Amino acid sequence: LKGIDPLLNPEKGPPGKLWGPGEAERTSATLLSLVRNNELEGMISAMRDLESTFNHKFNYPWTFFNDEEFSKEFKEKTQAETKAECRYEIIPKDHWEIPSWINDDLMAESAKILEEKKVQYSGLKSYHQMCRWNSGKFYDHPALKDIRWYWRVEPKVHFFCDVDYDVFKYMEDNNKTYGFVINIYDSPESIETLWPHTLEFLAEHPDYLHPNNAMAWLADAKNRPEHHQKAGYSTCHFWSNFEIADMDFWRSKKYRDYFDHLDRAGGFFYERWGDAPVHSIALGLMEDKNKIHWFRDIGYQHIPYFNCPSSPKCSSCQAGRFTDGTGLDQEDCRANWFEFAHMD
Ligand code: GDP
Ligand code: MN
Repeated sequence: LKGIDPLLNPEKGPPGKLWGPGEAERTSATLLSLVRNNELEGMISAMRDLESTFNHKFNYPWTFFNDEEFSKEFKEKTQAETKAECRYEIIPKDHWEIPSWINDDLMAESAKILEEKKVQYSGLKSYHQMCRWNSGKFYDHPALKDIRWYWRVEPKVHFFCDVDYDVFKYMEDNNKTYGFVINIYDSPESIETLWPHTLEFLAEHPDYLHPNNAMAWLADAKNRPEHHQKAGYSTCHFWSNFEIADMDFWRSKKYRDYFDHLDRAGGFFYERWGDAPVHSIALGLMEDKNKIHWFRDIGYQHIPYFNCPSSPKCSSCQAGRFTDGTGLDQEDCRANWFEFAHMD
């Protein structure tokens, strides 16, 4: 992959600034984190991993988002972890607040039902708000206006392998839209009406279905475990706490129409639709499946799952490991993606 020596290509950098290796060829991208002040320690640990395995070579800026002001301590301590620029952004109220058409009583009623079904975080309003923001709002934040690519990073995640090339340039040069590392099944109780609402949307917009879609992956009934045998969608999704993706897809009319349809249906609040199944269904239906890339070479952990490549570039990640030994391996549905979608 292209690495470029700025000393051999002095015209590539702006005048007066000596660019580090790789930097002059950078594309329009940011490392992106939605995070709370009280997650500072976890954020620092995730930053250390990503800076040491990737970003110290490229110095992509970090953009931190919060629904409230970042503390002085948060800003100082995160900036101290990187030579790259850090930006601290507040989410506009109208992107974060529960929309006007959501009925409080119905939401309270639904919360009880979801709790009985043991849907994780269902009682936490902010969790629903977070899922909605990650589904349909983050890419419209004014701070991202001129940025196309992002790498989503959560506090406490780990990165295990050296990444020597610019992943954003890789995506751009290879005409990819979305990169993932882990695929798992979702809790069917959290998305009971997501698939019916999606089919309703598709019926209204049959032209939005991509000719090279991954419907067979979404609808797969063969591989899923017993408790995932609900109607339609298998619940297998790209685990979105890691994403390297092109915001042009989320900013397209078809995706905006899809998000608006779901938002009006109310399932971010009456159910607990996650941004992971929403992103995954949208990609599976409306994008060319060849534009979805598995970053097999990025060693990653978000508790309790791992992507552990077998490579000398990786440390403290046991090759092939998927869980902490919690018996959750049956949640792994990566193989389905390759069976149904990945034709190459
Ligand atoms: P999980 O990964 O599904 O267990 O959910 P997390 O608690 O990790 O939340 C997902 C991401 O959203 C993390 O990066 C959190 O820091 C962030 N997040 C969740 N809720 C809030 C919130 O109310 N405010 C802010 N600023 N960030 C949040
Ligand atoms: Mn998390």
